[in-house]
Amino acid sequence: MVLDERLLAEAESASARITALERETAAATSQYHRTIRRLHVAGSSMREIADALQLSHQRVHQIVDAAGGAPRRWKLRSKPPRPLVCSFCEKAKDDVTKLVAGAAAYMCGDCVEAAASFDKVHAASTLRCSFCTKPRKAVTRMVAGAQAQICDDCLHLCKEICENA
Ligand SMILES: [Zn+2]
Ligand SMILES: [Zn+2]
Repeated sequence: MVLDERLLAEAESASARITALERETAAATSQYHRTIRRLHVAGSSMREIADALQLSHQRVHQIVDAAGGAPRRWKLRSKPPRPLVCSFCEKAKDDVTKLVAGAAAYMCGDCVEAAASFDKVHAASTLRCSFCTKPRKAVTRMVAGAQAQICDDCLHLCKEICENA
């Protein structure tokens, strides 16, 4: 049986639309999560964010802590073994020259250099450093990127690791 050309074209255009919408949904979701993180970094409590956006406290917690679960050791990876991205700028490993691994995040050499201009994590935040896991209140300063945050001490260590590489 011959396919109906008109219906076939309609199916193809619907399929292309699904693909485009899925891509857009993924982009909007990532922007949504990033903005929620920035609200928390700027000093809003997870409870306040949850109430304002009508989310559960647990969901906000998951979004804010999304950086967890990555590598465990401190070391410089010039050639990361798995598909990896910098937890701060989200550049892929192929686009960066250096990638330092902390407890739950990676930081590329460019971000180590640019960290002074990152969002500062508010003193009341419950976030922990993604490299040493110390809480915000235990460190003098902390800055945040797309999926992770880093304290001053760890940033200093990253700088040394990058400079000696
Ligand atoms: Zn980076
Ligand atoms: Zn730290």
